[in-house]
Amino acid sequence: MKKSRTKKNRSKPKKPVVAFLSLSGCEGCSFAMLDLGGEFFNALVHHYKLGEHHFLEEMKEKSHYDICFVDGSCLTKENVKVLKEMRKKSDFMVAVGSCAALGVVPVIKNFVNKKQKAKYVYPNLREPFNPDIHPISRYVKVDLVIPGCPIDNKEFLKVFTDVAQGITPALSHRPVCYECQTNGNPCLLQKGEPCLGPVIQGGCNAVCLNSRYYCRGCRGLIQDPAYDDAIKTLNKKLEKMIGKRALHHIFQIYGIQEDWLNRL
Ligand code: SF4
Ligand code: SF4
Ligand code: SF4
Repeated sequence: MKKSRTKKNRSKPKKPVVAFLSLSGCEGCSFAMLDLGGEFFNALVHHYKLGEHHFLEEMKEKSHYDICFVDGSCLTKENVKVLKEMRKKSDFMVAVGSCAALGVVPVIKNFVNKKQKAKYVYPNLREPFNPDIHPISRYVKVDLVIPGCPIDNKEFLKVFTDVAQGITPALSHRPVCYECQTNGNPCLLQKGEPCLGPVIQGGCNAVCLNSRYYCRGCRGLIQDPAYDDAIKTLNKKLEKMIGKRALHHIFQIYGIQEDWLNRL
């Protein structure tokens, strides 16, 4: 299947062959899928032919996949190799979760003395492979991103069934504030506390704010230039509130620092 997965090939009767690849990560996104239980397996059986899953080691690799879902980041040479090989074999690649989309927690090492930290963790390893961490889109073409750390599994299920049918999934392009206010939460920013919600891509049902914990941007910045002014304004406000250093530490948690600073 060489066509892009758009409405044009929706009527294709053959079930797409799907692969699941997990690079380095906490497996939280894989378990978010499995937490769907019957809903996930019903959707899998109904819409797909299973080609490969990282939890099923006895499955033989195939030479071609219609769709591949990838979670985790490239922390090792093997990760990069496997990702590139999988891309060659797959017509459509979906980055699942913010490790794949942004790099997430491992990105923190981009901002510290990597050599020194590696020596601390691996004192006997002379030259560990210790690259900067990037979104997987730096290594391969990514056709679709499902953000979140972890993913929202209901959102995943919708995307999972949509792409199988050649439907372009409608992900939220509203900021986290929209869901936060719809849920009736008090606004932390208005109380003088930090929150990145106004410029972060929603779709998580403002889950952190529902527990009165501020948004640290795990779903990444809204990729719409119309938000550039809002990013600048929020940056000024937050720098004044908590200082530049503390603010940058927040950006580094989920790997949004580079993107944020580029848009100032
Ligand atoms: S995005 Fe978060 S939950 Fe998903 S694998 Fe990475 S660290 Fe784990
Ligand atoms: S608490 Fe954060 S996400 Fe909620 S409305 Fe205020 S700024 Fe937006
Ligand atoms: S509120 Fe912010 S940090 Fe929490 S899940 Fe949503 S995007 Fe991620």
